[in-house]
Amino acid sequence: AKAPVTVTVTGAAGQIGYALLFRVASGQMLGPDTPVRLKLLEIPQAVKAAEGTAMELDDCAFPLLDGVDITDDTNRAFDGTSVALLVGARPRAKGMERGDLLEANGGIFGPQGTAINEHAADDVRVLVVGNPANTNALIARSHAPDVPPERFTAMTRLDHNRALSQLAAKAGASVTDIKKLTIWGNHSATQYPDIFHAEIAGKKAADVLGVAPDGSGGAAADDHQWLTEEFIPTVAKRGAAIIEARGASSAASAANAAIDHVHDWVLGTPEGDWTSAGVPSDGSYGVAEGLISSFPVVSRHGRWEIVPGLEINDFSRARIDASVQELIDERETVRSLGLI
Ligand code: NDP
Repeated sequence: AKAPVTVTVTGAAGQIGYALLFRVASGQMLGPDTPVRLKLLEIPQAVKAAEGTAMELDDCAFPLLDGVDITDDTNRAFDGTSVALLVGARPRAKGMERGDLLEANGGIFGPQGTAINEHAADDVRVLVVGNPANTNALIARSHAPDVPPERFTAMTRLDHNRALSQLAAKAGASVTDIKKLTIWGNHSATQYPDIFHAEIAGKKAADVLGVAPDGSGGAAADDHQWLTEEFIPTVAKRGAAIIEARGASSAASAANAAIDHVHDWVLGTPEGDWTSAGVPSDGSYGVAEGLISSFPVVSRHGRWEIVPGLEINDFSRARIDASVQELIDERETVRSLGLI
């Protein structure tokens, strides 16, 4: 039998944690042959709730679950970890400026980066879910000089999946008919879901939907600006729409996207398609090097690779640049706060 893989989940007693842990323990993230040992990190006041979740994990009698440790000690939480899912973050409170939010999260993700550097397994892979995810990942990475930088990633897979679903619904197609969609930039309202390389059942999505390269037209018969007025804002503001409808933020879909991200990272993406992930920029597509920005990516041999050589039209260029500028501004803020 394979040796168990240690998976750390921070903020394990939260909403996303609750939707995530059972799926990790059942083998949906690392596959049906890989046992997992879970390490749950929580702040002291939430440890008891995490213990309750661990009791439920026991009660599932998952054959692949090798054990569950619960701790409020960051160093212990990352001891020997191969997959670190950084979910717990400081939520934006009323009246909080963006700088305050970044500073509060610097206090969480800096020490976690240090603990990963010192205690994690050599093959550690980190996915940051807690917002602002891209910049939190940047902070963690800057505290882990001994870990290869490409092991720090931020989640844009939920945005990707939302875009897939919206596009499929509009085209009357199945999500499996849609290939090569991309989320670019920051996991924020400035993110850019790009349909210009996407295919629907083998045909160019922009042609199927009647969208011109300047973003005008769209959705065939409709004379409104489907791309700019419906698709892009619906994907970018979906989180708010879910809060409005559910009375709570999305949790199961966020957990599902985290499972998808790590699954594909470890086990590979299918031939003939790609996905989206926040990965360190190597300067591709004019994205400043070192930023953790969303790109079209494939996973081969356990590594994310940015899909090279795509043509970027002027419409896409402006939107990618705007989202990347936001990431540059966030990086400047955390630099000036001494967080990186
Ligand atoms: P959730 O589990 O709902 O969310 C956790 C984080 O995920 C938030 O930062 C949230 O961002 C983010 N997120 C990213 N994408 C999405 C998405 N699509 N939909 C919703 N959220 C998304 O939060 P809870 O408050 O229920 O739980 C957080 C837990 O973390 C608490 O139990 C708390 O005790 C713990 N915590 C643990 C820490 C640690 O382990 N050191 C540190 C801080 C907190 P957004 O705020 O923008 O919704």
